Parts: sequence; structure tokens; C-alpha cells
Amino acid sequence: MSILLTGGAGYIGSIVASILKEEGEDVIILDNLSRSKKECLPSGIKFYEGDIDDVSLLEKIYVEEKIDAIMHFAAFIEVGESVLEPYKYYENNFSKTIKFFNFFINKGMDKIIFSSTAAVYGEPQYIPIDEDHIKNPTNPYGMSKLFVERFLESVERASGVHHVALRYFNASGAYGNYGENHDPETHLIPIILEVALGIRDKIFINGDDYNTTDGTCIRDYIHVYDIAKAHLLAYRYLSNNSGSLKVNLGSGEGYSILDIIESCRKITGAIIPVEVRERREGDPSTLIASSKIAEDVLGWKREYQSVDSIIESAWKFHKAKFENSK
Ligand code: UDP
Repeated sequence: MSILLTGGAGYIGSIVASILKEEGEDVIILDNLSRSKKECLPSGIKFYEGDIDDVSLLEKIYVEEKIDAIMHFAAFIEVGESVLEPYKYYENNFSKTIKFFNFFINKGMDKIIFSSTAAVYGEPQYIPIDEDHIKNPTNPYGMSKLFVERFLESVERASGVHHVALRYFNASGAYGNYGENHDPETHLIPIILEVALGIRDKIFINGDDYNTTDGTCIRDYIHVYDIAKAHLLAYRYLSNNSGSLKVNLGSGEGYSILDIIESCRKITGAIIPVEVRERREGDPSTLIASSKIAEDVLGWKREYQSVDSIIESAWKFHKAKFENSK
């Protein structure tokens, strides 16, 4: 029996696919390579190229493979872009996703692991944010993911199909040859490291007038390897229990943009010039997780305990990528 993993050429998907394979699971990847490259696919894993809503391709996968579970990563993930181009997000992250799920649910597949996000919560009413916190997304990205969660709840009620929605806080760091490699890159840590490498002149801070300790947004950075491990635990949970879960994945610690820049300066030895610009629309001021359900119910334990260790792994990856590109 295999796990069908969509978006397996992407940052988190490729690392999850490698780890599942290392753990002896049979994995198949479906990816349209719209925001990733073939070179990013983990080696030795069967790959289907195409869209998640291409029903004839899904039919082919269904006939050729024995799918036991789905891990759905394929999505657009940029907060700023989602504010400017909402249709793109609702179409790809919601409409296409429910069509994709529906295909396999109708074939009797009953285990779904869904890549959700801290962006479902919006501006926090209290910190740390637990899974029961009110959901009031401040951007279409978060809303598109929340819609899918609601769809999965309805499907569970209607037909007993179980799911685990993993709400990632800020995935970061690298695992061996796999790291953050978006094109264009919009995420904080890789952009700062590109400044350290001289690829960019400076880092633009998206607003310093938030109601936080230093005025810049606070996020909870969690190593992508620890996020990946949670997928294996979620799969085991669905294999051994009949129930669904919503699960935060974060460190429980918050770092401002200035904290992250300072840590990058320390690790890279680079000066890293900064310039403050306008706020990015759709950004909540603070996102810090309580990951108690992940720890207590899934048995999740983080290996990367400090933000410095996360940035060190990202720095190693970005330096190597830069050297190879010369
Ligand atoms: N950010 C920034 N400059 C950049 C990229 C990001 O100030 O060039 C900010 C962004 O507005 C947010 C935080 O850094 O407050 C983390 O953003 P990222 O896009 O990495 O992750 P998100 O929290 O949006 O998932």
C-alpha cells in the first residue's frame, strides 16, 4: 500500500517524501512542477507529473497504484500574493483540492493528511495559540486552507473519512540537500541568507509599527525536519485510530523579524543591511503555537530546539546552493 503525496517536489513535500521512504513507507508523488523543479524531486520515488484536478491522471494513478493514504502539500503559499490574487488561491488551494479529495474519497480512500497553516487563526486573541483558538484568517491564503479543513469536517460527518490537518507555523531550515528553494523567494530566512551571500543588497522589513516588543512581526519558526516527522506520526495515528485531528506544529517560541536578522548576522558573520518598508497586507502581528496535541496525542518531539540551529541548517544549504550555481 502506498501514500500518495502531492507537491512532493516542493520544500516540505520533498523532505516528507524522503523521510517516509527512509522509514520504509511506499510513496508516490504527484506534482505539476508549477512552483518547483524536477531536480527537487527526491530520488527513487515514483513520480506522476500533472495537476491535482486532472481526473484522467488521477484515474490512471488509481488503476496503477494501491493508495492507502493521501498527504496533500500542493498549494500556493504566499500571504502577500494571496491578498493581491485571491482567485488563484481559492481556485488552487480550495476548488482543485476538494475535487482531488473527492476523487479518492469516492474510491474508498479513508486517510487524509492535509497541510494546513497557522494562517487559519488570524490575529491572536491569546498566546500561545491552541487548536481551539478562533479562526479568523487575515488573508486569502489562510482562508483557502480553512475552507478545506471545513470541507474535510463535512466529509467526515457524511462518510466517516478521517483526516489530520497539520497547521504549520513557520517551516524553516534544511534537511541535507533539501531546503527552501522557492522561485521567486518571498520567505524571511532564505531572503536574509541571500543578503548574507551578496545575492541581494538588503532585507526589507515589512513594517515596524506592529504592537510587538520591537514593532516587527513575531513568528514561530519550526524546523522542516520536525514538521516532516509529524507526517509519519499522523499517518500512524490514522492507521491505528478512528478519528480526526487538528494539530499545530510549532516551537512555542516567538521571534521578531529583527531577532531573526540578528541571529543570521551571528551565524553568517555578514553585516546584512536592512530597510523598513510598508506593512505587507494580510500579516498577523504575532503567531506562536501551542503544540500540546502534537506532543500528547501524536507523540511528537522536536529535535531542533533553537532558532539558531534551524538557521545554521538553512545557511549550510544556501551556501552550498550558491557555490554550485557558480
Ligand atoms: N518578511 C519581511 N521581509 C521579507 C519577507 C518576509 O519582513 O522580505 C516578514 C513577513 O511580512 C512576515 C515574516 O517576515 O511578517 C515572516 O514571513 P514569511 O513570508 O517568511 O512567512 P509567513 O509568516 O508569511 O508564512
